[in-house]
Amino acid sequence: MINIKWTYPVSLSEATSLLEKENVVIHGGGTNLSGRDISNVEGIICLKKLGLDYVKKDKDIIEIGAMSSYADVVKALSSLSPEHILLKALKNAANTPCRNRTTIGGSIAFVPTWSDRAGALLALDATLVLAGKNEGEVKVADYLKNKALQEKTLILAVKIKDTPHRSFHYRDVKTANDMPLFTITVLLELENDVIKSAGIFIVGTKQLITGLPELESYLLGKSKDDIVDSEVQDLVNVSIVGSRITDTDYMSIKAKIETARAIFSALEDDQ
Ligand SMILES: Cc1cc2nc3c(=O)[nH]c(=O)nc-3n(C[C@H](O)[C@H](O)[C@H](O)COP(=O)(O)OP(=O)(O)OC[C@H]3O[C@@H](n4cnc5c(N)ncnc54)[C@H](O)[C@@H]3O)c2cc1C
Repeated sequence: MINIKWTYPVSLSEATSLLEKENVVIHGGGTNLSGRDISNVEGIICLKKLGLDYVKKDKDIIEIGAMSSYADVVKALSSLSPEHILLKALKNAANTPCRNRTTIGGSIAFVPTWSDRAGALLALDATLVLAGKNEGEVKVADYLKNKALQEKTLILAVKIKDTPHRSFHYRDVKTANDMPLFTITVLLELENDVIKSAGIFIVGTKQLITGLPELESYLLGKSKDDIVDSEVQDLVNVSIVGSRITDTDYMSIKAKIETARAIFSALEDDQ
């Protein structure tokens, strides 16, 4: 059995040079690592002494340090931006102990079908700040698509917009604190009650995450009264998969219905 060496870098240069070694992993909150086969891991690099647990706002950009837990983000956004889609997405994620441990950085590096965070960051077109083999800022969408961006690279922070929006986060769960079977994130920007931009993502599909560009285009230029439920449903064609799904056809229909409901809920006046 390999003896795992834990390290606690106190500077970025120390962290990135530790990351260059073979068979090392980064530790965020440990909620995924603790259930994973790490029998060939020789070193764990814990990020907790790097000062990455912060949430700050500058004009209309909110920056979240990678070591902020879901609970930290929920607390900070509750005062900074109470209607923010990321707050809605994370406040019911998992259960209290998991929300206290799971970090934003770890949840971006590891995206399960039950991720509550993924749809919101994609809808917000969020940017990551990276260090290590890949340096600088990249879009979350590019980071998720390109494995090379993830190699030997630390996520330091995520930057999101804080511009006025209407939004809804739907979690399909069997019990209140269960991991979702799938999630739907809807983010709409309005001008005089007319939709001027839309971001809609379903997580938990055959492709893991599916954006709905045709539905987004359909919504543009429409107000609530112009949107037809059945037309929305026709544009939601996803396959919900996973070991916990027993009837994929039923779940795909459910995704259609819940996406339409999520759009109308986002447009409710009491948002
Ligand atoms: C019982 C349970 C229920 C859950 N339910 C939900 C849920 O409903 N919704 C939800 O969204 N999530 C949920 N989660 C959390 C999710 O499954 C992952 O465990 C979580 O996203 C991992 O985050 P972490 O900070 O604990 O990462 P870790 O376990 O520390 O790391 C995960 C991966 O990310 C890498 N990593 C960590 N930090 C960084 C970084 N800063 N830069 C680069 N790489 C990094 C690690 O090397 C590792 O490969 C649940 C977890 C559990 C255990």
